[in-house]
Amino acid sequence: MRHLNLANLPTPIRKLDLLPDQGVNLWIKRDDYSGVELSGNKIRKLEFSLAECQEQGCDYVITRGAIQSNHCRATAAACAQLGLKCILVLNTDNPPSLDNIEGNTFFDLALGAEVYLVKDKEAATKQISELTEQLKAAGHKPYLIPVGASNAVGSNGYRRCLDEIVEQEKEMGVDFDLIALAVGSGGTYAGLAYENVYRKLGKKILGFAVCDSTEIFTRDILAILEDMTKLEQSKLSFGEGDVWINDDYIGLGYALSRDEELAFIMEIAAKTGVILDPCYSGKAFYGLHTELTQGNLSDYKNVLFIHTGGLAGWTAEARKRASKFVENQWHDQD
Ligand SMILES: *Cc1c(COP(=O)(O)O)cnc(C)c1O
Repeated sequence: MRHLNLANLPTPIRKLDLLPDQGVNLWIKRDDYSGVELSGNKIRKLEFSLAECQEQGCDYVITRGAIQSNHCRATAAACAQLGLKCILVLNTDNPPSLDNIEGNTFFDLALGAEVYLVKDKEAATKQISELTEQLKAAGHKPYLIPVGASNAVGSNGYRRCLDEIVEQEKEMGVDFDLIALAVGSGGTYAGLAYENVYRKLGKKILGFAVCDSTEIFTRDILAILEDMTKLEQSKLSFGEGDVWINDDYIGLGYALSRDEELAFIMEIAAKTGVILDPCYSGKAFYGLHTELTQGNLSDYKNVLFIHTGGLAGWTAEARKRASKFVENQWHDQD
C-alpha cells in the first residue's frame, strides 16, 4: 500500500538499565522521536491515511478524538505540511475557554485546524456528518479519518514499524521475544500483530489498555485485522490467540492518572532520561515494569517497549499533581 514519508524514521532503539535482578534485557523504541509537531505513533498511520486522501483527490480532512488527542494534533500538523484543510472534532465534558487551552489543543489551532468542541462521542458523530454534508454541498471533497487512524489503512504504519524493528534486530544482533505498548484505539497493536503473523515472526505482543477492557479491545483489534485481511485480499486469519491485552493498568480511566503512576513516571525519567506521557506510555510502561518485577513475564529475555509519544498530554493538572513527587529537589528563593 502506498504511503507518504512524513516521519523521521527509523526511530532509535536503546537499552534501559532497569530491573537488573529480573534476568531480562529491556529496550525502548523511541517512536516519540518520529517528529515534534508530527510526533508519536500517529504519524506512521497518517503516512498511509493521507496517501489515500491524496489519491482520492480530497481537499479537507476531518477527524476526531478527545480534547488532548495526539492523533488530532498530528493530523493538523500533517495537513498544514501537505496543504490540506483540517477539521478536528474534539470531545470533552469540561470544555476550556479559548484563553485557557493547553497542550495539543493549542497546537491544533496554531497548525491552522478548525476545532469543534462537542460533549461526547455521539455528538462528535453528528457534528462530523453535518460538516461532511456542508462541505460536499459547497463542492469540497472531505476525507474522514476514524479515531486514532485505527482502521485497515492507517494500521499499515505499524506493519511497516515491525519491519523496521526486524531490520534493527539484525543490526543489533538481538531477537526481541516480547514487544509491549499502550493500546488506546487498537490500530498500532493491529498493525504489529498483522505483520507478526504475515511474516511468521512468532513474537509475543503485549498491549496495555489505557481505557477499555480486554474484551472490547480484543474485539476491536480483531475487526481491524479482518478489514486489513480483506483490503490485502489475503488468506491470513486471526483469532483471539493473536491478541494479548492486559487491562489491569487502566487505573482511574482514560487520561486520568493515579499518584502511583505519576510517581513512577517521575522516577523513570530521573533514572533513565526518558519522559513518558501520563495518558498512554506512562500507564503501559508502569504495567510492563510491574509485571516484570512480579515475575509474570519470566519467559521473556529481550523485551522491547515502544514509546508511542504523547508528551503534549502533560497538562497543567497532570504537571501539578506530579510535581509533589519532586518537592525535595526544589529550592525556592530565600
Ligand atoms: C494514540 C496513542 C496510543 C495508542 O495507539 P492506538 O493505535 O490508538 O491504540 C499510544 N500512545 C500515544 C501517545 C497515543 O497518542
